[in-house]
Amino acid sequence: MRPIVRIAARSADLGGGMQVGRLLPSRQQRMVGAWCFLDQAGPVQFAAGHGMHVGAHPHIGLQTFTWLIEGEVLHRDSLGNEQLIRPGQVNLMTAGHGIAHTEDSLHEGRRLHAAQLWIALPPGLQDCAPDFAHYPELPRWRQGSACLTLLAGTHGGETAPTHIHSPLVGLDIASDDGAALGLNLNPDFEYGLLPLLGTATICGERFPGGEFAYLGTGREKLDLALAAGSRALLLGGLPFAEPVLMWWNFVGFSKAAIAEAQRDWASGDRRFGPVGDGRAPRLMPPPLPWRIVD
Ligand code: MN
Repeated sequence: MRPIVRIAARSADLGGGMQVGRLLPSRQQRMVGAWCFLDQAGPVQFAAGHGMHVGAHPHIGLQTFTWLIEGEVLHRDSLGNEQLIRPGQVNLMTAGHGIAHTEDSLHEGRRLHAAQLWIALPPGLQDCAPDFAHYPELPRWRQGSACLTLLAGTHGGETAPTHIHSPLVGLDIASDDGAALGLNLNPDFEYGLLPLLGTATICGERFPGGEFAYLGTGREKLDLALAAGSRALLLGGLPFAEPVLMWWNFVGFSKAAIAEAQRDWASGDRRFGPVGDGRAPRLMPPPLPWRIVD
């Protein structure tokens, strides 16, 4: 068995002073299956008059997957969707050819805790029509003194309703009193586990909150212990077959496709459309890190 790779969160700024911990992509590991991005936002208690406000920005080639743990966040997108997400729910936005959205915590001065993930779309679907779906209910059950919520894929005889396009699993594991449990894994999948709160012990190795444990492939079982009041996010998936390029909010298989999306967003092309009443500030990408030869 390969040793577990420890990946420390690095701080990233979402704009407006909102700091998050970024786990994927990282220098040590870019993806876990098709999961290609993981930010942990919070847990944070905003000061009075403050909240999370992410201005209008575009995506292509991916699905954004929001798992809300504390607080309330309002999603608006260029398809006209306006959806409040509450703890225990998932928002899944399929960008495909192109979509733009804003995200705002609903009440200033409240608490917020969320995992923001992206899933790379497979080659045939990179350019699909955009879509948005809200999942208010997910399979949830107890295993010993742990509460398991299945966010994506199949585990323990349950299948999550979230509409994904690659073999993946996402599982939230929480315990008020502390728990020790064995989780069956698919040896063809690679896995990673992030303690979101408290500490997790994986096969005898202790991981504090905010440190991502990359487990690789070839495991049939995971021995996991959670300290009292802990919560962890298990991600897994079949290693993604194609090398994926990621730049700013874009995922693609070619620099040209990403450069085109960047041009279209900068020029206000209708590919991305306005979000809501169009008054939210539009976030702009830094210059491309490579030269494009037309
Ligand atoms: Mn986004």
